[in-house]
Amino acid sequence: MTTKRKPATLAIHGTESRRGKNEPVSPPMYHSSTYVLQDSETVEAAMSPGSDKRYIYQRYGNPSQDLLEKRMALLEEAEDSMFFASGMAAITTAVLSVMNAGDEVLSIPALYGQTLNFFKKELAKFSMSARFVAIDELYDLKNIVSGKTKLIYFETPANPNMQVVDIERVVEQAKKFGLKTMIDNTYASPINQRPIPLGTDYVVHSATKYLGGHSDVLAGVIVGDKNFIDTCRKRSHMYGPVIDPFNVFLLLRSMSTLEVRVKRQNENALKLAEALKKHPNVEVVNYPGLPDDPYHETAKKQMDGFGGMIAVDVKGGKKEAMKVADSFEVILNAVSLGGVETLASIPVITSHIWLSPDELKEAKVTPSMIRISVGLEDPDDLIEDFNQALDKI
Ligand SMILES: *Cc1c(COP(=O)(O)O)cnc(C)c1O
Repeated sequence: MTTKRKPATLAIHGTESRRGKNEPVSPPMYHSSTYVLQDSETVEAAMSPGSDKRYIYQRYGNPSQDLLEKRMALLEEAEDSMFFASGMAAITTAVLSVMNAGDEVLSIPALYGQTLNFFKKELAKFSMSARFVAIDELYDLKNIVSGKTKLIYFETPANPNMQVVDIERVVEQAKKFGLKTMIDNTYASPINQRPIPLGTDYVVHSATKYLGGHSDVLAGVIVGDKNFIDTCRKRSHMYGPVIDPFNVFLLLRSMSTLEVRVKRQNENALKLAEALKKHPNVEVVNYPGLPDDPYHETAKKQMDGFGGMIAVDVKGGKKEAMKVADSFEVILNAVSLGGVETLASIPVITSHIWLSPDELKEAKVTPSMIRISVGLEDPDDLIEDFNQALDKI
């Protein structure tokens, strides 16, 4: 095949050509903590510094994990990737692999709650620091960067308020000032957005979400160049936040349907967002796929689809949001996202419960906000369920 394979094909076959080698079609689960090598000389060579042989012991990986990591790198158009036990394991390992003592990460306040916690409370233990600026300030870093700034980190679309950051504008500024960039691409998935060809250095995901896709896996992944992934591998061999072989199996299975799932979720989300806008008890619908959304043009430029996440502000406050969340009949009131079932959660009582009123304001998270992860149900049923719940306010 001479043409470049498309994402739907890559997610199922990678770039492999499996012909007549008696290989199983479904990659097996390597549930073994240790491996027998052919003789002691091979053992010595495998264990020696610089050896790239990793099928020795489960903490160093296994052949199916390699296959998964190769396919993920292809989907993100990157050189390499490494999977972890959770998104937070991937994020903390990646950030600690870029930064050294004295370095500062520059970020925006709309971040996944535990990432924000890690930046604000944990980095100081490593003599590192974090500083938060508004999105617009990332587009002109001249008066923002300090001698300590090393990394720019953000999510786009951002959790939970659906703000979109213009990746190319930030990358251009970062390159000008010699900074590295890292994007949490969880919300978009590589089907809707690939930050690496846009110039981003590193990508992280909570693979628990769209990549897993069925609300049954906890995992994370770092994507980047070979050198960086090698650094992350060495760090994870020491800290041990490694992925379980069963979750590798589940992810290989899930990722083969990633493209159809995400495309259907994009369609369902747009239909639901349009319907929500019409309900009298809705204040604002934050969804970059809506033509009048303030982030629509930026999203259109850098995304192939607008994703399955919506943030809706209902009329009233926290009490009204809770009333709606408790009145659904199809939609489930649960945290997490990216699965086949539509989930709704209220950020101020879940992912952002630790934030003070000032921090919530800074992160643009309102008490009346309901975050929706749109699943694969029939969109008419979702719209009807939302309408009856909103009618109860
Ligand atoms: C869930 C999530 C994380 C954390 O991932 P875990 O797999 O739960 O550790 C990080 N970033 C975003 C945007 C998330 O939604």
